[in-house]
Parts: sequence; structure tokens; C-alpha cells
Amino acid sequence: MNQDTMIEAHIQDVRTRIAAARARRTQVSKDAPVELIAVTKNHPVEAMQEAIDAGIMNIGENRVQEAIAKAETLEREVKWHLIGHLQTNKVKHAVRQFDLIHSVDSLHLAQEIDKAAAKFGKVQNILIQINLAREASKSGIDRTELDAMLAAIDDLRCVRLQGFMCIAPNYDDVEECRPLFRTMYEIFQQVKAAEPRTADIRYLSMGMTHDYEIAVEEGANLVRVGTAIFGARVYNALGV
Ligand SMILES: *Cc1c(COP(=O)(O)O)cnc(C)c1O
Repeated sequence: MNQDTMIEAHIQDVRTRIAAARARRTQVSKDAPVELIAVTKNHPVEAMQEAIDAGIMNIGENRVQEAIAKAETLEREVKWHLIGHLQTNKVKHAVRQFDLIHSVDSLHLAQEIDKAAAKFGKVQNILIQINLAREASKSGIDRTELDAMLAAIDDLRCVRLQGFMCIAPNYDDVEECRPLFRTMYEIFQQVKAAEPRTADIRYLSMGMTHDYEIAVEEGANLVRVGTAIFGARVYNALGV
């Protein structure tokens, strides 16, 4: 098989596994749909184009500049997801490029996004990233900060909170992710039930190549899959 048909076959395989994971759900409605985000960081725009040709409508990138460069040469309309840490000096560009920013990890960042979105004449959809496992190496707010952050974000006019994102630790036994995903789903449901005034809570972004099936079983409705679709990333292959 050549590279193109491999990407298509991998996407098909991931979709089949997502459907099977939905069917195994116990706590969460089996009918609740799941959207697949193809994570294209460090992969060339040709690979991205192949994925889009194979039906992918959501693209995830970690870096603002890389996404902008790729978007310029891309022919098709897709939904752009920023999943990597966002520095405040890149906020202006991020707001122009991305439909959903998953990685909002401080009130300060939310406020900067609000200002940039106001200037650009847009309401920016965001997710709050929660560092549930409290890993020092990962971004995300502590769960104890959530209520204060929700209240403060509610005052921002050009930011619309749409849900939550988490990155699970890279456990050897992937089953160890399950309680964490379950807690994330509880948080998601709680905030959704008490919906903040300006929010539109609808997304729970969790699950990557090694743990997306468990994430879907536990209620993820946005999964971010790179390696299982495109193979291993070759860092700096793009010179970025
Ligand atoms: C790179 C990345 C992914 C995709 O990871 P894979 O293991 O390649 O599927 C998902 N989410 C985030 C936040 C990432 O940085």
C-alpha cells in the first residue's frame, strides 16, 4: 500500500475502534457521538490533505505558526483545533486561525484571548485544560481552580467556553487512565448542568493514540489522534 491509502485505512481503523468503544459504554449514552480530530503536527501538509480527502473534518495542531503555514496551502475548509500550549504573544494569530482552542490553562490566557477576539470581531470558542493528574510536566489548571475560573470567564464577552480538555499521563497500563477520564466526565456533566451564563458546554476533549478507546468508553466526544493515523512523528522534518 502507498502512503495515501495507508492514511485512509488507518482512519477507517480508528473510526471502527471508536464505534466499538461507544458500543461498550456503560455510564454514558451509547448514542452520544464522537468527533475525530486528526493531529497533524510534524506531518507535512500532503498527509493532512490525504486525511481530509478520506473524510477528516477536524485538524489538530500544537503550534500556531505551523498551522498557519499549512492552512495557506490547504484547499479544503476544515475545523482547526489548537491543542498545544498557547503563549500570550501568539494569541492574536491563534484567534485568527483556530475554531476551537483546547489548551486554555489560565485566566490570564482567557483574558488575552478575549481581548484579541474583540479586536478581530470574533467570539472565540475555548476549552479549559485541566491537569487532573497534577503532572508537573503538563499544562492545565488544577481542579481546585476551576470554580473561580468559570466565574471569571463568564464575564468575558468574546470568549465562549465549550467544555474541557485533558491529557492523561502516559501510564504503562492504559487502564489506569480510566478513573481520570471518568472524573473528567463528571466535571463536564456538572458544569453542563449548572451552565454558566455565557457558556455553551458541549465538548469533552480527551484521548490520544494510546488511550482514546478508554476515553470514548468514559464519555469523550472529541478525540485527538495523531500517531495511529499518520505513523510516528519525525521531529523537525519540516524545519520548524
Ligand atoms: C500530539 C498530541 C496528540 C496526538 O498524540 P498521538 O499520541 O500521536 O495520537 C493529542 N493531544 C495533544 C495535546 C497532543 O499534543
